[in-house]
Amino acid sequence: MSRVYNFSAGPAALPFEVLQQIQDDIPDWQGTGMTVMECSHRSKEFVELAARSERNLRTLLSIPDDYSVLFPQGGATLQMAMTPLNLAAADETADYVVTGSWGKKALGEAGKFCNANGIADSSDRNFTYIPDQASWTRSDKAAYLHYVPNETIAGVEFHFVPDSEVPLVADMSSTILSRPIDVSKFGAIYAGAQKNIGPAGITLVIVRKDLLDRVRPNNPHLMTWKSYADSDSMTNTPPTFAWYVADLVFQWLLKQGGVEAMARVNERKASKLYAAIDNSSFYSNPVAKDCRSWMNVPFILADNALDAAFLDESRAAGLTNLKGHRSVGGMRASIYNAVNEEAVDALIGFMADFEQRHG
Ligand SMILES: *Cc1c(COP(=O)(O)O)cnc(C)c1O
Repeated sequence: MSRVYNFSAGPAALPFEVLQQIQDDIPDWQGTGMTVMECSHRSKEFVELAARSERNLRTLLSIPDDYSVLFPQGGATLQMAMTPLNLAAADETADYVVTGSWGKKALGEAGKFCNANGIADSSDRNFTYIPDQASWTRSDKAAYLHYVPNETIAGVEFHFVPDSEVPLVADMSSTILSRPIDVSKFGAIYAGAQKNIGPAGITLVIVRKDLLDRVRPNNPHLMTWKSYADSDSMTNTPPTFAWYVADLVFQWLLKQGGVEAMARVNERKASKLYAAIDNSSFYSNPVAKDCRSWMNVPFILADNALDAAFLDESRAAGLTNLKGHRSVGGMRASIYNAVNEEAVDALIGFMADFEQRHG
């Protein structure tokens, strides 16, 4: 067996210990004589899994009791529609901060369902900075304020929580569980699973309970947060296998020392990779230093004629999925929780070696 160092932006690497546990569990999960995929979601074993995963997530993120934890399907993209449908009436306004492609997409989706107002936009410099909060043109009476704490494509991360007098909604798909967060500052948080939680197919929503009643009348059942809250996310058949893997990842995170420990490792991984980039004239990262992402590190080569060679040679060295998003070009290393320090060291070593041979 040979495993590569996988820097995919998503679906992304999973912890090796979790993969081994899955392999052990496949033929006979918890003495049921079945794989978890074949078990009823109403079985005692699965109901216990669901309860344990929520309990462990609440511990990991210190989620207060007045918040519900939901596990719908549809990914972060469906939440871009569900957010206005659950929090705003059609004639109400919602404020959107656009610091990257996902924020822009969320604004566009919300515009179909309410008066979505872009209050800040950093596209003038190709999404490489966060506009000063003082310049945000907030509405007088917004139903909520939406932002994307980590923009996965350009690698721009808020290292602070914005001020807001209205409920703050955050798409945390690519930063959730990478560090502690103060959940009480948010009205709702959502995240697709396939970056830092588990396989694609399950989505996480954390929402303050008093907001659940804002939902529009006649909203589709499966697009209503309250339906999930009222049924422990068993409003219909949940994505059981993806949920099972997420449960294993939460247990793995607790074993690593929780999100505080992950944050220390993640900060170290990111700072050594940015240092390697900054200390060379061969590689560069265009993002303002105060908002560089801990999770997604784009970098370009001074001579883009070498891009293909970089990708070929890195793949041959066991480092995969380093091609940057087409809107940014160059390379991108996604270094989520499951990408350990050894993988980052291997990448830094390869980069130095490549520079020496081609620089
Ligand atoms: C990956 C990603 C999405 C899209 O998630 P899906 O689960 O594919 O819908 C949305 N927002 C952010 C910040 C992402 O990183």
